[in-house]
Amino acid sequence: MSKKETIAFQAETSQLLDLVIHSLYTHKEIFLREVISNASDALDRLRFESLRDSELGADTAGLRVRIEVDAKNRVLEIDDNGIGMSRQEVIDNIGTIASSGTKGFLNSLKEAQEKNVSLPELIGQFGVGFYSVFMVADEVEVETKRAGEAKGTRWISKGKGEYSLEEIDKSECGTTVVLHLKDVDPNVDGDRDYTAEWVLKDVVKRYSDFIEYPIELETGEGDDAKLEVLNSKKPLWARPKSEIEDSEYVEFYKHLTHDWNEPLETVHFKVEGTTEYSALLYIPRARPMDLFDPKQAKSRVHLYVRRVFIMEDCEELMPSWLRFVRGVVDSADLPLNVSRETLQSGRQMAQIRKRLTRKVLDALLALQKDRREDYAAFWAAFGQVLKEGLYYEDEHKEDVARLALFHGTVGDEPTTLAEYVERMPVKQKDIYVLVAPNIEAARRSPHLEAFAAKKVEVLFLTDPVDEFVLQRFTEFDEHAIKRVDRGEHDLEDEGEKSEREAKEKELAPVLEAIRKELADKVEAVRFSSRLTDSAACLVGGDNDLTPQMRRMLAESGQPVPDAKATLELNATHPLIEHLTALQADDANYARFASGCELLLGTALVTGGEAPQDPVRFAQLVTELMLQKS
Ligand code: ADP
Repeated sequence: MSKKETIAFQAETSQLLDLVIHSLYTHKEIFLREVISNASDALDRLRFESLRDSELGADTAGLRVRIEVDAKNRVLEIDDNGIGMSRQEVIDNIGTIASSGTKGFLNSLKEAQEKNVSLPELIGQFGVGFYSVFMVADEVEVETKRAGEAKGTRWISKGKGEYSLEEIDKSECGTTVVLHLKDVDPNVDGDRDYTAEWVLKDVVKRYSDFIEYPIELETGEGDDAKLEVLNSKKPLWARPKSEIEDSEYVEFYKHLTHDWNEPLETVHFKVEGTTEYSALLYIPRARPMDLFDPKQAKSRVHLYVRRVFIMEDCEELMPSWLRFVRGVVDSADLPLNVSRETLQSGRQMAQIRKRLTRKVLDALLALQKDRREDYAAFWAAFGQVLKEGLYYEDEHKEDVARLALFHGTVGDEPTTLAEYVERMPVKQKDIYVLVAPNIEAARRSPHLEAFAAKKVEVLFLTDPVDEFVLQRFTEFDEHAIKRVDRGEHDLEDEGEKSEREAKEKELAPVLEAIRKELADKVEAVRFSSRLTDSAACLVGGDNDLTPQMRRMLAESGQPVPDAKATLELNATHPLIEHLTALQADDANYARFASGCELLLGTALVTGGEAPQDPVRFAQLVTELMLQKS
């Protein structure tokens, strides 16, 4: 009975075929991954069934996938000696859209379009992977024989509404997928020639390197013909840690990341039980150029399912504040056709992510403790990213805070918050920080004067993210985090306080005059307890935006809220005495007024800002220089 029969696809199937072909065109090369992954499954199943049914007589030692190319005729064959399919299985499996049914698919397609789920992901979810061959082939033949059966089946289709079936003789069980390739389209960006050896090698290496069966390619002709195995077959993560050499970890890291450096730390572990998976994670040494590129993925960890590559840069695996971590996770129990949607809603995924996060944080804490110098380099490269965790994540906030390093007024090396707290005198309750554009500017800040005089340590926050971080990161180890450039700080003892208050009383008239002069430029003018050397500085309210933040908002085109700072004056500075004298003399009032303006201008400059009207400021300075006293 070798009659050839032509069967129409279900109406929706051909509609869908069309859709698949047109929606996946930017990912054409995945057809090979799909076919190889099906072949690998078929090999798994044969191996599995032979264990129970010795009658099958299968040769499970020689299981392999073989790729053959006939470049002249543009034919690509992918052959496996796996379980194969019966005639009915062919009809069920590749004549119709798998399990969920086409109607269901088309319905979810509508929903997906409303929700903006991308088509390739959706297609993966419905197991229509085989149809991706029609992206590269205009005719496809499948020759297959189910293990244990006498006859085989040939399925042929152009992917256009119908397929034919006929019975064939086939000596071995297994499946050969024969693709009659379309011509390479020079107008399609990235269209590749899948008869070219190097293209096949590249695609196999990229997607199927860790398939555990050899993926062989026939190369050379005539006497030179030989079989080359394209995949390494070695999923490093699946091997016991004790048997893996350091150099193997390093090689895999380089292969994975294209980084020339060795990784700073490798985290490899296996979890068994209700959720089963292995993870091999790396912490790099150097910061990649694109770490802050918003177009970059929010995670750099790839997802495998039972050694089959599923998803690059899987955002569900890692929080974005650990996006510098590279590596792979191989799940034993997720379905092969898992989609983004299922990943996002899955409880299992949340568990995996939590565990990975914990492991990375532990590795970093250990690094900080045992290899401080390396750790400091790590922090310099990635601290800015990690700090985002202080903002976004409550659960790990405490650990991220422990990991943070800060330069400050004590020593040249950066310090941790825990070390700071340990050095705090008993009566100090708060942790003092100063936000500044860089360390040099921080060191020169007038806000530090009183703290320096009292020998109170201040930490510097010099990353652009610090502004945001401080909104949520308000305490550590039960100590409030206080900004020295905000609000008022109580550093004085009783004697100093009453001395200052007496002075302020005496200077009340001049203070009032300065206030009047600057009324539309500052929120308030007051005497300061934080200045010892400088004459003046500007102070924000506890919830005000700092100059850096205002600049960032302005640069990103956002409206900048109108908030004026408070001008603080040093009552003991000779300049105040001078202004008092000028103010008392009506003839000198103009000089007093420009003195006030200059005072505000210099306070802005020392705070890292430009005077409100730089030209006028320069004029005033020039006048001052020309003045005969
Ligand atoms: P999925 O693999 O996601 O189920 P596919 O469209 O890729 O969806 O394949 C449909 C089905 O066809 C597979 O589930 C399998 O039963 C069958 N099949 C495909 N390729 C092979 C093969 N090489 N050997 C045996 N069965 C295969």
